[in-house]
Amino acid sequence: MTAETVPINENLKQVRASITSAATQCSRDPNGIHLLAVSKTKPVSDILQAYENGHREFGENYVQEGVEKIQQLAQYSDIVWHYIGPLQSNKSKFVAEYFDWMQSIDRFKIAKRLHEQRGVYQDPLNVCIQVNIDKEPNKAGVFEDEVVGLIEQIASLERIVCRGLMAIPKASSNEQEQRNSFDKMQRLFTYCQQQCQKTAPKFDTLSMGMSSDMRLAIEYGSTMVRVGTDIFGARNK
Ligand SMILES: *Cc1c(COP(=O)(O)O)cnc(C)c1O
Repeated sequence: MTAETVPINENLKQVRASITSAATQCSRDPNGIHLLAVSKTKPVSDILQAYENGHREFGENYVQEGVEKIQQLAQYSDIVWHYIGPLQSNKSKFVAEYFDWMQSIDRFKIAKRLHEQRGVYQDPLNVCIQVNIDKEPNKAGVFEDEVVGLIEQIASLERIVCRGLMAIPKASSNEQEQRNSFDKMQRLFTYCQQQCQKTAPKFDTLSMGMSSDMRLAIEYGSTMVRVGTDIFGARNK
């Protein structure tokens, strides 16, 4: 561990201010945008610091690491935990048991397992469908034309609530390319809301935007930005 201290409180303040200004610039209500603090690879002490600063929503990418942190922070029962990484079906039971959200649904089989493994005493698991919006060969997620079908299939699983879409657009330094990806996601999100009013009445989440492209994502209707580096500092590889 390095001794370098990251000013997490200061960073949170800046990220929140940046969300507010991006929202205001495009006449959106900043309260309609959730900030998910992505704490993968970062210690529990960092999460606690953000918690003491009033933050409650955290995102983790790796099952074992996430579960360990959730167990260590079990007394902080108002934390909302989001699983945002790839998920192998043999680990789905841990996500079903420990997390509040699962944002990377990319096939019915995983959704069905999560439904079967979600405890009857628990609230239903909130899920988002991950969309491979730029059709990148090695990226997780379904293609645009598969999304509505998957939402309809998931609707039969009562321990799962379909909350929206998640995407990680292609990394690009070209702003127009980034805009095109976000624009496609925004249109797809609106289309799904219209098509699935009956099958997915709680479909309200468009999860897109990270440290580097958060402001642009907000311009295209993001309701949840997932920010790691700008809050907790760079990750060691
Ligand atoms: C790591 C990660 C993030 C956060 O990325 P930063 O660039 O550090 O803000 C957001 N979403 C997903 C799915 C991630 O894996």
